Amino acid sequence: MKFSNMFIPTTKEAPKDATLASHQYLVRGGFINQVGSGIYNFMPLGKIVLEKIRAIVKEEMDKAGANEVQMGFVTPTSLWEESGRANTMGSELLKFKDRKNASYVLSPTNEEALVDMVNNRITSYKDLPVNLYQINTKFRDEARPRFGLMRGREFLMKDAYSFHDSHEDLVREFNLMEETYKKVYERLGLEFRVVEADSGAIGGSGSKEFMILANSGEDTIVVCDSCDYGANIEAATRKVLKKEPLETTEIKKVHTPNLKSIDEVTNFLEVDPYYSIKAVIKKAIFEEKTQTVVFFVRGTDELEETKACNAIGALEIEDATQEDLENANLIAGFCGIVDFPKDIKVLFDKELEGENSIICGANEVDYHLSGVDLNKFDLEFADLIEVKQGDLCACCGGKLSHTKGIEAGHIFQLGTKYSSAMNATFLDANGKAQAFIMGCYGIGVSRLVAAVIEQNHDEKGCIWTKATAPFMVDVIISNAKKDEELEAGTNIYNQLVQEGIETLLDDRKNARFGFKMSDFELIGFPYAVVVGKRLKDGMVEIVNRKTLEKTEVLLTEVTSKLK
Ligand code: ATP
Ligand code: MG
Ligand code: MG
Ligand code: MG
Repeated sequence: MKFSNMFIPTTKEAPKDATLASHQYLVRGGFINQVGSGIYNFMPLGKIVLEKIRAIVKEEMDKAGANEVQMGFVTPTSLWEESGRANTMGSELLKFKDRKNASYVLSPTNEEALVDMVNNRITSYKDLPVNLYQINTKFRDEARPRFGLMRGREFLMKDAYSFHDSHEDLVREFNLMEETYKKVYERLGLEFRVVEADSGAIGGSGSKEFMILANSGEDTIVVCDSCDYGANIEAATRKVLKKEPLETTEIKKVHTPNLKSIDEVTNFLEVDPYYSIKAVIKKAIFEEKTQTVVFFVRGTDELEETKACNAIGALEIEDATQEDLENANLIAGFCGIVDFPKDIKVLFDKELEGENSIICGANEVDYHLSGVDLNKFDLEFADLIEVKQGDLCACCGGKLSHTKGIEAGHIFQLGTKYSSAMNATFLDANGKAQAFIMGCYGIGVSRLVAAVIEQNHDEKGCIWTKATAPFMVDVIISNAKKDEELEAGTNIYNQLVQEGIETLLDDRKNARFGFKMSDFELIGFPYAVVVGKRLKDGMVEIVNRKTLEKTEVLLTEVTSKLK
């Protein structure tokens, strides 16, 4: 492929809101462009990378015996009503109506649709097990779409769903999927950890997450330095607190006394007043002191309030339904939005005051958002509870440390949660109807594009791993107006292509050498071959993108060096 024939709109400017390297470099390198909040297009280079990742995921899923299917991006809300998730999924589920007033959702995941596909088509245990997957667009109306591809609203996910006649068989498939996922991340050239996790809105019992190690990761994980054991902070904390995971769908009514002072609030929740409101709420939920939290925020203006709510993933009071308010047995809020001040005091809002409400707030009303890093609100539960050596049993007892990860995959043992709700059964060996025992398995394909860069970049740009690079070699012709350089470069390009090496020929006549070199560094192909000054001596230069090391080689040696 010739650079001059490709649409690669590189730029010096990063989007203003881009704080992560992957967001900046993928936009600047001409891989992606933003269309709307959390919605991205993949331009030619981005599409090549996306397809490479998709192909590896597909190959490994196929090898594991899963069958690829393709589901509609749109599913009728009625299916979601059958499972009960139409109401429990919250605002991430985007619902809309068609011209006939029929209600639909944009699929954020597809448990219901898959149960519907299998139901009445698999009727006997003899046809089990089966594992069906697709690699398709998902939509989640994320409260805080950010970080480019890392947290989009529209994104590409591989989602798989398996059906079994016994729990043992589900565990076998779950373990097979864990091994399959490990192969995927290994092939992509990524450093990762498999960690125990909670099941979130998807539900079920056992679940594991696949964390790409990167300081910019949104997740905190606890890892052992002597064995493979790891757990995300929520799962680790639950182990320490000896609490079983809560099913998010099950609303437990907990009586919360009417607390009138911050001392009463903090004593009740057993927290220090220094913790961020988010951490306080998390602790309240973890310890089942309450189940639903309605948060109210008073900023200096509406925009500030919205931003703050988004920052902490909270619902604004105007957006809360009467039902939310009634379910809420903890109402928390604060005025002024920045570092959670050390002295917080209870503020009463007459309208919200009630038997089950705690209203706590910061007293520094005139804090401003300007110049404040909203990420500060992402204080983790780790700040509250220390997980110590020996706390996690499945672990060898080695030294534990906290590190950051990007959730790139998540596998779940669902059991019969969806099949029971949707009446999906098969006949077992005794001719008795049983609900399918299910597992589900997700990989964030588009998030992985960003995760590769979070783990592999420098101050100049992207450094793609061999399996993900859009092209392995960039043959740079210093001055494409010089016939001898153009000819030599084209020859090298042809030889590399003949050897099956994916190569781009930077033959642009209107771009200077320095510009081509900085495009190479920004885009991050593993190697460049520079055809320039030393051509008269029969020499060219090979540049290693990762080390930026330059090696002069004879024209005749280029192919063998890069093979
Ligand atoms: P997160 O905790 O980051 O919100 P999740 O736990 O909600 O992710 P799952 O429901 O487990 O996500 O979905 C499976 C995979 O899909 C995730 O492991 C992740 O890699 C990917 N994914 C989820 N949400 C997004 C998103 N908004 N943008 C890009 N990828 C996503
Ligand atoms: Mg999520
Ligand atoms: Mg998650
Ligand atoms: Mg998850």
